[in-house]
Amino acid sequence: MGLCPLHLETRPSFYVNVRKNLFYCHGCGQGGDLIRFVELSQHLSFRQSLTYLEQQSAGAEPDAVLRQASAFYQQQLDHYPEARRYLEQRGVRDPALIRELQIGYAPGGNLRCHLLAQGYSLGLLKRTGLINRKEHDALFQRVVFPCCRDSHIVNLYGRSINTAFTHRFLPGSKGDLVAWESVRQFPSVILVEGIFDLAVLWQAGFRHATCSLGTHLTSEQFRQLCDRPRTVYLTFDVDANGSGQQAAQGLAHRLRAQGITTRRVLLPLGHDPNSFFVQGGEARQFHSLLEEALP
Ligand SMILES: [Zn+2]
Repeated sequence: MGLCPLHLETRPSFYVNVRKNLFYCHGCGQGGDLIRFVELSQHLSFRQSLTYLEQQSAGAEPDAVLRQASAFYQQQLDHYPEARRYLEQRGVRDPALIRELQIGYAPGGNLRCHLLAQGYSLGLLKRTGLINRKEHDALFQRVVFPCCRDSHIVNLYGRSINTAFTHRFLPGSKGDLVAWESVRQFPSVILVEGIFDLAVLWQAGFRHATCSLGTHLTSEQFRQLCDRPRTVYLTFDVDANGSGQQAAQGLAHRLRAQGITTRRVLLPLGHDPNSFFVQGGEARQFHSLLEEALP
């Protein structure tokens, strides 16, 4: 029961019967099923209402189910000490930061049941990739992080807490640069490739850091970096085979062509920002590295 969306009123007279999927308003006398409600509220014909509902459910459902999955995984984190231990190993200790980044844990084997009980169809769970073809949870013993676009969750990123498997996304886009809405205001930003690089930098006070979840930026992520004049500190891994720095050089070249100032931050050999801080690096030292960054 609530205020009628179809006429102006101050006391609720609008009733919805969720079992029969019907509504009725005692104020204006309108009533009917979901399609009738769309006809009246959106001023559409019957046929147009069907199309409207089709689009709504196609777009909204994956978003809703990914949000549910992410919330569920965040709750799980408290029940699995091994996940907490893994985060500690990666230098991520601050509970507020864990909440802010919406970090969760997928133990595997309990998501499917939870979401089916919420009323999501198995077909939808498979379409989003949360459930694999064998109808098992796709994410198993992974620390999970939601990927967003315009504040909608579009994907989940999972890092295995066992070293045997590296990382994976569900099918689909990896979304925007992480936390871009809060980072984009800074005249200079630090770009890192990994979510745990980002976490330790934020923890150390470098709030102007963002993350592309891999060295290969999507065209949308690239466009975001170029949305105004700024300096980008590319802080990719410094690995022995040089792949991180090669990626940074290529990206710097493309960014400069768009009028963006770039600096390449050189961590000690074999390090990424995460290992730098986990192995005792201090904010002061990282600050010097930013100042010494190569043009
Ligand atoms: Zn009414």
